[in-house]
Amino acid sequence: MSPTKASNSTLRQIPSIDQLLRSGTAAEMRKSVGSKQLTGLARSVIGAIRDLVRSGGEVAGEPPEKHTTASLLAEAERRLVSAFERERLTGLTRVINATGVVLHTNLGRAPLSDETVKAIQQAARYCNLEYDTASGSRGRRGVRVESLVKALTGAEDALVVNNCASAALLILTVLAKGGETIVSRGELVEIGGDFRIPDVMATSGTRMVEVGTTNRTSIDDYRLAITGDTRLLMRVHPSNYRIVGFASSPSLSQLVDLAREVKLPLYEDAGSGQLNEMIQFGVTDEFGIKELVRVGADVISFSGDKLLGSAQAGVIVGKAEIVNRLRKHPLYRALRVDKLRLAALQASLESYQKAEEVAEIPTLHMISLTQSEIRARAQRILDQLQSDEHNNLLVSLKDDLSAIGGGAAPTTRLETTVISLGHCLMSAEQLERCLRTNQPPIIGRISEGHVLLDLRTVYEDEEPALVRALQTIKTSGLTALASV
Ligand SMILES: *Cc1c(COP(=O)(O)O)cnc(C)c1O
Repeated sequence: MSPTKASNSTLRQIPSIDQLLRSGTAAEMRKSVGSKQLTGLARSVIGAIRDLVRSGGEVAGEPPEKHTTASLLAEAERRLVSAFERERLTGLTRVINATGVVLHTNLGRAPLSDETVKAIQQAARYCNLEYDTASGSRGRRGVRVESLVKALTGAEDALVVNNCASAALLILTVLAKGGETIVSRGELVEIGGDFRIPDVMATSGTRMVEVGTTNRTSIDDYRLAITGDTRLLMRVHPSNYRIVGFASSPSLSQLVDLAREVKLPLYEDAGSGQLNEMIQFGVTDEFGIKELVRVGADVISFSGDKLLGSAQAGVIVGKAEIVNRLRKHPLYRALRVDKLRLAALQASLESYQKAEEVAEIPTLHMISLTQSEIRARAQRILDQLQSDEHNNLLVSLKDDLSAIGGGAAPTTRLETTVISLGHCLMSAEQLERCLRTNQPPIIGRISEGHVLLDLRTVYEDEEPALVRALQTIKTSGLTALASV
C-alpha cells in the first residue's frame, strides 16, 4: 500500500466539523466558549488534522493509516479543548507570583490593596469624577488625589497622568520644547519596556545636551553647558542599575543651587515613587519623594505602580506655577487618567495618610516580610506535602534572596526562604512548565536544576491553591509528564 493510498483512505475517516461539534466535549464547552467561537475552533482543529494526514505525518503519535474515525474524533476533541485553553491563556488571567520579585513588570507590577479594589468597584458605575456634589456644578478631575499627594509629599501642587513615561513627555514638552535640556551622560538610561531618555527628549522636541561622562559628571559640567537656548536641567534616577566604583555626580542640592542661580527649572525623573524612606526594611538605594521635594527640585515625576504600590499612573509634583502650566497644556488632556485609576490611587494614598500603608499596601507589606515569617509559611506548606505515597516530588527549604524589581532599588536584596522543588520523573523545566500551566498559573523560577517558589510574593489565601497543585504533581507525576 503506497503512502498516498493510506492517507487517502484515512482522509475519509476524518470526522466532519459537524461531527466534532456534536461530540460530548463540544457540548460541554459550548456554554463557556459560545457557539460561534466553538465552530471556528472546530474548523481549525479538523483542518490541522487533515493537513497532518495529507502530509503523512503522525497524528497523536501514530501514523495516519493506524487511525479510525473514532480515534481521530477523540484526537480532535482533545485538540479542541487545548486550542480553547491556549486562546484563553492569552487573555488577562490571575497568576500566582512565586518568583519573589515584588514589582514584577511581566506580572503587572504592583498588586492592588483590598481598599483599592473596593474603591475601584465604587467608582465603576457613575461617580463624581468631574462633578462637585456640594455645589452641583462642574468639578475638576483628580482634585482629591492631587491634594493627598500634596499633603504626603509637601509639594505645592500635583498632577496625575497615564504613567511616568507620559509624565516625562508632558514635562519635557511644556518646559523645554524648542530649546535645550541638559542631562548627564550617566543618566541616559533605558528603563524596561522601551523607555529611553534620548527618545523621550526627541519626541518632546527638546534638544538633548549631554554633559559629563558615563561614570563622572560634575556641577561645572552642567554650568558650562548652559546657553541662551537652555530651558531645563534634568536629572534621571538610574532606576534599574547603579554605577559603582569610580563614579560621582552632583547632589540634588548642588543642582538646585545652580538652577536657582541661572533661573532655570530643575526636573527630577524619580521613577519609583517611594513616598517615605524604607531603610528599616533594608531598602537603602531609593530616596523618598518627600526628600526630593524638600531639597527643592522644581518638578518631579514618579510611577504610581512601583514602590508607591498602586495603579499604573505618572504622578507629577512640583512648583504650583509649573504644574499649572502642565495642567493647561493640550497634551495633558491626551495623557490624563480615568476614574478607575484615580479611585485606586485615592485609596492607596489614604492608606499612607492613615499611616497604615505597610499593613494595607501589598507591595510594602511584601517588602516588610522577614525571612522567619516567610520560612514559617514555607514550612507549613512542606508539612502538608509530607507523605510517602506516590511521592515523586523532592521538596526542601533553602535560604535565598528576593528582589524588589520593576526598575526599583536594584541593589536591594531581601533575605527569604524558598521552597526548592525537584521531581523524580521530570526535569526542572518540565516541573516549572507544569506549575506555569496550572489553573491558576503558578510562576516560579529555575535555579541550579530546581524550581524555586518564594512565598514573599504569594498571598496567604493563595497557599491552598499552591498546595493543591503540588499535591497533583506529587502523585500524578506521570500524567503531568505526559501532558507537557
Ligand atoms: C520606571 C521609570 C519610568 C517609566 O515609568 P512608567 O510608569 O513605566 O511609564 C520613567 N523614568 C524612570 C526613572 C523610571 O524608573
